[in-house]
Amino acid sequence: FVIPDFQDFIKDVEEMYWAAKSNTDGKVASYIPQLARASSENWGVSICTIDGQRFSIGDVTVPFTLQSCSKPLTYAMALETLGPDVVHKYVGTEPSGRNFNELVLDYNMKPHNPMINAGAILVCSLLKTLDRPEMTLAEKFDYVMSFFSRLAGNESLGFNNAVFLSEREAADRNYALGFYMREHKCYPEKTNFRECMDFYFQCCSMEANCDIMSIMAATLANGGICPITDEKVLRPDSVRNVLSLMHSCGMYDYSGQFAFKVGLPAKSGVSGAMLIVVPNVMGICTWSPPLDPLGNSCRGLQFCDDMIKRFNFHKYDNI
Ligand code: GLN
Repeated sequence: FVIPDFQDFIKDVEEMYWAAKSNTDGKVASYIPQLARASSENWGVSICTIDGQRFSIGDVTVPFTLQSCSKPLTYAMALETLGPDVVHKYVGTEPSGRNFNELVLDYNMKPHNPMINAGAILVCSLLKTLDRPEMTLAEKFDYVMSFFSRLAGNESLGFNNAVFLSEREAADRNYALGFYMREHKCYPEKTNFRECMDFYFQCCSMEANCDIMSIMAATLANGGICPITDEKVLRPDSVRNVLSLMHSCGMYDYSGQFAFKVGLPAKSGVSGAMLIVVPNVMGICTWSPPLDPLGNSCRGLQFCDDMIKRFNFHKYDNI
């Protein structure tokens, strides 16, 4: 086993869980009513090691929408089907140093990276337009759902139509980003702009829970082979690229500080979820809706800080 004394490890995880539970900092996202209704009490942590040992505590089966946690997944899918050279003709690999939805492109007039909204919208256009262009939006939705589900050991994901509809209603900024990129000819030819935006909102509105997301993180930790099904879902080079950008760009405008302090690839979303990857060891998902001013889950961050104090998981701990 990669974690030989799993029972001992779990004791620490439980302590960290309860310590973070009493943290009442942060505010639940309120830009759409469907997210504003989330309870700030919700708190779950799930762990899946690369050899399939699992542990979950708290609200681990309550569904939440993936939101920005879908960004590394759609990026992974684009790398897998189109290859990194094609993908990075359209989107950069540099932290933007700005808000996740800031109206800004890089000096090549490309989105900075796939982990922010502009980059993720662009990745959606690549998936829609270049990979199996004959698929309708409906077929493409199923195709992406089943890819995400393979990352999660064939667990089935859900879709929150109310979130989708209100995301689309409250999307002035995302449309502005979308049009700004169209003005600068960022998309592949033949991109259907409306469909591409809908596809992005749909990816944000897919639903999973901590248990399921920890398997996805574990598949990334395991170089693309799902530890539950043993299916090879991603090539190692795709995983390397996804983890590199999660490491440098995954935590909004806190990414640099998180890389310094915690030293692990991670991605957070506005629903309060966090995917955390300990390469070659395990995947972790934490979920708690209250967010700090930069948009990261307060309890999730506390859990990571605590974990790095107790264990040598930081990328440079073993130097
Ligand atoms: N649906 C959100 C948006 O596009 C997702 C962003 C996020 O999770 N930070 O604005």
